[in-house]
Amino acid sequence: MADRYLDKDGLAKLISSVIGKGGRFIAPATVARQTVFKEVITADEVATGYILARNSFKEFLFPQTEVVADFSIRKDGVELRARDVKAVDTVVFGGRPCEAASVASLRSVFTWDFVDEFYTKREDKTVVISVACTNGDDACFCTTVGLSPESVAGSDIMLYETTKGGWLVHSVTDKGKAFVAAHEVVFGAQSADTDAVTLYNPAPIEGIDLARIGGRLKDRGHYEDPIWAELTRKCIGCGACTYVCPTCHCFDIIDEGTAFEGERRKNWDACQIDMFTLHASGHNPRDVQWKRWRNRFMCKFNFYPEKFKSTGCVGCGRCIRVCPVRLDITEAMEALSK
Ligand code: SF4
Ligand code: SF4
Repeated sequence: MADRYLDKDGLAKLISSVIGKGGRFIAPATVARQTVFKEVITADEVATGYILARNSFKEFLFPQTEVVADFSIRKDGVELRARDVKAVDTVVFGGRPCEAASVASLRSVFTWDFVDEFYTKREDKTVVISVACTNGDDACFCTTVGLSPESVAGSDIMLYETTKGGWLVHSVTDKGKAFVAAHEVVFGAQSADTDAVTLYNPAPIEGIDLARIGGRLKDRGHYEDPIWAELTRKCIGCGACTYVCPTCHCFDIIDEGTAFEGERRKNWDACQIDMFTLHASGHNPRDVQWKRWRNRFMCKFNFYPEKFKSTGCVGCGRCIRVCPVRLDITEAMEALSK
């Protein structure tokens, strides 16, 4: 399975090579005592011993905010000038298999009824190098949603930590193979360091049945079920769960500028915020928090699988870890499996 080997010196050379060619290298690094994905320039910055970065790496494919057009307003009309996306060669290193699986989910959304090149061009220029999980916590539930600590979906290259601090390298996609071939000096042939660290393999949560959840959500008779209010009573609508979720993808388009000229921006939105579906009339079809949370749950377990034939929740557990009131999506999954 593993075809090559990488060690820390190799990682340092890899980072220099990618940056030297004008690319960017994204990896988990420690900032203010938290592990977060950021652009790094040295191997020393790359975190070790983390379970999962606090943020998802989606922000490097789908930025929190970006300008998609410029506009000018003149007496004779409005001029709108589209901006081209500036996609640079990108390596995302050190993500976990769960979040890598979200890449295909995001692509299915951004190519569904319209090809959003602001996403696709960035993803096309990105090589995803994931590291199989050797550690986890009680928020991890990848195996409950059909993934595993070494699922390769969405990864171009999968690494396995070795007991001596290196990585066994498994090239998954043609893009990954081409990347390894282009950095032959860095990815050495198999070395004597072949003992992989045992993977962390959480048991699937008993009582969760995705097929039953899907079936229940298909029947819109559940819409006004009091279970939604019960499950989400403590939600304060902060939106943190959506911002860190690797598959959440909602955005808004906002014009910023003067009365004469400005920029049209694409900004992350969050279905948990009370203005998310507020109409200009003042009417809001999701006027209370449980309806907004119901929408999030529906998106994960009904809209994504039905409409996009892809995974809406990859079991990364980020939404559980960041939630200020510890609202646990697996509790809702269990409740709706009954
Ligand atoms: S819903 Fe929660 S557990 Fe599922 S992918 Fe999003 S952040 Fe991860
Ligand atoms: S992070 Fe928790 S409190 Fe905030 S919107 Fe999500 S579920 Fe509600």
